[in-house]
Parts: sequence; C-alpha cells; structure tokens
Amino acid sequence: MRVEGMIVGEERTFEGAVEIDDATGLIVSVGEATGKSDIDTRGCLIFAGFGDIHIHAREDASGLQTYKEDFVTASAAAVHGGVVQVADMPNNPTAPVNDALYAEKEKLTAKSDVHITLYAGIGPGTEPLQRHVPYKAYMGPSVGDLFFTSAAQLEETISKYRGRNVSFHCEDPEIMDAHAGEATHEQRRPAAAEISATEFALMLIEKYELQGKLCHYSTKGGLPKILAAKARGVRVTAEVTPHHLFFDDSMLTEENHLWLQMNPPLRAPEDRMAMIEALRRGDIDYVASDHAPHSHEEKLKGASGVPHLDTMGAFAAWLMKEHAFTAQDVARVFAAKPGEFVREFLPPAFGEGFGKIAPGYVGSLTILDLKTPYAVTRESVKTKCAWSPFEGFVLPGSVRATVLRGKVFAAA
Ligand SMILES: [Zn+2]
Repeated sequence: MRVEGMIVGEERTFEGAVEIDDATGLIVSVGEATGKSDIDTRGCLIFAGFGDIHIHAREDASGLQTYKEDFVTASAAAVHGGVVQVADMPNNPTAPVNDALYAEKEKLTAKSDVHITLYAGIGPGTEPLQRHVPYKAYMGPSVGDLFFTSAAQLEETISKYRGRNVSFHCEDPEIMDAHAGEATHEQRRPAAAEISATEFALMLIEKYELQGKLCHYSTKGGLPKILAAKARGVRVTAEVTPHHLFFDDSMLTEENHLWLQMNPPLRAPEDRMAMIEALRRGDIDYVASDHAPHSHEEKLKGASGVPHLDTMGAFAAWLMKEHAFTAQDVARVFAAKPGEFVREFLPPAFGEGFGKIAPGYVGSLTILDLKTPYAVTRESVKTKCAWSPFEGFVLPGSVRATVLRGKVFAAA
C-alpha cells in the first residue's frame, strides 16, 4: 500500500510518500508524493505508529478479569486511539513469572490486531526467564499480588536480575503506611512516597546494571534524581501518563474523584506542569498510558486506574495545541521511544521494528487529523470497561486511520 501526505520524521516534517510491502508489512521506501494515496490524509500528519508500553489488558489464563478488558477489546481501543503496539503488564491473577506461564499468556495475545509485548512479573522469590523479555517490579501494594513487603526482600530478588530490562512502580510502602490514616487517596499516597522509591529504584538499577524504567512518573521533586542518574550514565528511562499531564489534584471534585483515582494519584499543579516540561525537553522519555480498565461499579467502589487507549492520538493533538509540542516531539515520545523500548523483544518478522518511517521498519502508521476534534463520550470508546477520564472534554484532534503492517484499520 501507499500513503502520501505530511510525513513526520524524527528531524523534520515533509510532503512525501510511504510505500509498504503488502506481503511483509514492512516499509519498502519513503519518497516523493505523486498524488496517489490509499488514504485521504488531507489535514493530517502521518506518524510512525504510536506505541503504548504500559497497559493492563487484563487477559490471562485464569480469565478472571476479562469482564474488564481482553486482548481483542484492548486491541480495538488501541486501533481507535492510533496505537499500533503495546506492552502489557504482568499483574494478572495468573501472573507470567516463569517461561511456561509467560508462553501461556503469549498464546492469548495472538487474537490481537496490534502487536503485544508482554512483561514478565518480578515478585518475592521469582527468577529470570530463559527468554529475553522485559520485567516489571512493584515496590508496594498496588493491584494484584506481585509486591514486596520490604526493601531488603526486593533487593534480594532484584539481585538475580542483573543486566535485565526492569520497570519499576515507584511508591514506598513504608511512607504509604505512615499516611494510611489520611482523608483522601491522594494524601495516603503522597509525592514523598514516589521520591523515596525513586532513590531506591535508581540505586538498584545502578548496582545491578539494569536497563531500568520508572513507570508513570508524576513528581517534580523526583525529576532531578532521574536526571542526575542519567547524567552519570545510569541506564534509566521514565514514562508519564496522559492523566498526570492533563489533570492535577486541584481539579478533583466530589463528582469526579472516584473516576480520577489511580496509583500513583494525581499530584499538585506544579508537578503536572513540571511533567509537561520534562516530557517536551526529553527528560521524560515516553507517554505511556497505564491503561487500567475497571468496570463502572468497581470505580464507584474505589478501584484505582483509568483507561486511555482510545484517546491516545487525540491526546497527542492536545499536547501540540495546548503545550506547544512540535510534531517531532510527538513522534519522539509516542512513536520512536516506545519503538526503541520494545525493539529487542520483537519477532524477526518485524524487521527493524516500530517507531520510525524508514525502509525496513514495520509499516504501521498513525494518521492524526488535526482539523477534526474528538468530543469524548462513553459511547465512543472501544475499551470493554466503557468509560474514559476524558468524557465531557473535547480533545483538539482525532485519529483518521491506523495502519497496521500495511493494512488500514478505520479508527471510527
Ligand atoms: Zn500500571
């Protein structure tokens, strides 16, 4: 297939054409526009397909949580949001903590249209898999059972993962315990818990020579620690979520606070602005959604987590319009960096991988329409949980089409 229009490269945006081989699904050439496009891209920007390297699609061998989401509905929500590849977290009832359980979960991903990379879980007593995979460690109680009760227990386990790719959920359980009696969810999980856990995670990453990643980063106070670690050569990257960029705790009301409850929680306005700046500067590496679907009933009972896959493309348009992100910034934080993260874990058929519009890369594209806003409604989303934190908001762009390995998947 052939797509022509305004192509966003990593260094520049230019009028051109992308040719994708139908048989391999890989890009064969990037050249000059000739007026023959298989997709009408007028008013749009053509990005390498967006990646979301932190989602919870809820499906595993137990099937206990597929009422919230499964790999088919998560894939539909991803396509709707312009996301072509995702990485799924391991805190399932049957957690993928060894090669057999990982392979069992991987089989379930075959029915997804978007490519799914699976994290393996790290919990008390686990050991690395034979296969080369990314790992996730939960430092404190979150959703699921994969958490550690002490720093010593966590370090003892991590010491077996020397050199591996490990992502950390940074919230210090001891600081949260000390705030357990506070009035609100936000006060019970204070910024200090993330900042303290950041120091510990950076120490582990450096000491055990991990390729480290800090998940859903949210605090201004922790940023200098990450930057200092990067400056001294520690291999660490960081994610930020759409909700920590869009909402802060000053926006919480009696009506919305249960819907906007997540871990880590919404932070102060100055934290939010610091995250936006850090993402634009490149100090934070990725937008990763922490897409965490729960049913309406569960949200009203206080479940933590919000869904985002449906709105990723439109959210990128919001960063451009409201916070002066350039098209190149969007290409970097939504496509190139997430592509780099999963590259080493992809099957050989994926060529050079995701995240770049160049020969040999996967022919998956996100066509973002900057002229058509998306008024987010409950009815419009494809996630099985059927709601969005952006309901009632109008995001200033929408996904015209999502191309997966040379095939057009309509977004609407
Ligand atoms: Zn998560």
